Amino acid sequence: MILKLTKEISAGETDKIDANSEPSNSQTKQAIGLSTEAKKILEQNGTEPPFSSHLLYENRKGTYHCAKCDNLIFTSDMKYDSGTGWPSFYDHVEGSLSKRLDFKLLFPRAEYHCRNCGGHQGHVFKDGPAPTFLRWCNNGLALTFKPTK
Ligand SMILES: [Zn+2]
Repeated sequence: MILKLTKEISAGETDKIDANSEPSNSQTKQAIGLSTEAKKILEQNGTEPPFSSHLLYENRKGTYHCAKCDNLIFTSDMKYDSGTGWPSFYDHVEGSLSKRLDFKLLFPRAEYHCRNCGGHQGHVFKDGPAPTFLRWCNNGLALTFKPTK
């Protein structure tokens, strides 16, 4: 029943489909400025290899923003060296992130996204330092660092 219906529609719509086969303009625009690797993280929940981010060695004062939409997520005061190989923060700017549980590993872990654009940033673990005891484990490619002038 469903199969027959699909067939009838596609037969009648053939001309329309051909006319719209050009790539959509809005998709092309959104892709500008982000590398393939960054897009994989932000849009497909990817993870960069450990110790690959130059932000691990970033010790200057400044702010960390979503690489996709520029939303302010962390400040340099929240950053610490976790030794895990990913930029780590014990806190985040209130209201900048949204969380959801992710069951890709055997145990659930909280995956978090930029609250402004929905881009995947990283995962939050409960083994961070005081006062929050949280570790916001972030992909460096999903962030843009802006040093304080
Ligand atoms: Zn964003």
